[in-house]
Amino acid sequence: MDRLIEGFRRFRETYFEDNRALFSALASGGQQPRVLLIGCCDSRVDPGLIFGAQPGEMFVLRNVANLVPPFETGGTYHGTSAAIEFAVRSLEVEHVVVLGHAGCGGVRALVEGGSAEGTDFLRPWMDIARTARDRALALTLSAGEPIEAARRIAEQETVAISLANLMTFPWLRERVGDGRLTLHGWYFDVEHGDLFRLDSRSNTFQKV
Ligand SMILES: [Zn+2]
Repeated sequence: MDRLIEGFRRFRETYFEDNRALFSALASGGQQPRVLLIGCCDSRVDPGLIFGAQPGEMFVLRNVANLVPPFETGGTYHGTSAAIEFAVRSLEVEHVVVLGHAGCGGVRALVEGGSAEGTDFLRPWMDIARTARDRALALTLSAGEPIEAARRIAEQETVAISLANLMTFPWLRERVGDGRLTLHGWYFDVEHGDLFRLDSRSNTFQKV
């Protein structure tokens, strides 16, 4: 943990000092991010680092496999939906980005099955993306492709599923409809450092 405390000291002496006016304005004026980014918890996919975002620029929501559940109300603890509601209705962000990534552990578990690990919460959570698994396996196994290809398809499919589920939130759908809000699907390849964007017309991911 010493490395992290050392990192904080470095941040305090350099980045914070260099951006004192920005931090001061954010502290007194509050945050007004224009972007909600929904990414994976994966430690290799840090949205602030990848996109060079300044403090206050991006409202970041990270969960296992960058998933958005369908809109549902009730007495349970909807952490992801609460963050989406706050970003969209209170902060009034103008863009929502769903960021998938290569080598996603959550998607790997979904596609390949695996141990009993995570049965309390992980499996029910990943069930949001079960159609991604079915689609990926159907496409690749029938073509004799390796399991890696199925994982990649499923990783990209999680982005499409999250975008579709976002549209089940009535106040979000309304904002997309009148142009106040735009949805984006992105995919980051950790190994090669490439970024892909989902093209809504061709429904394929195109390298940036
Ligand atoms: Zn992941």
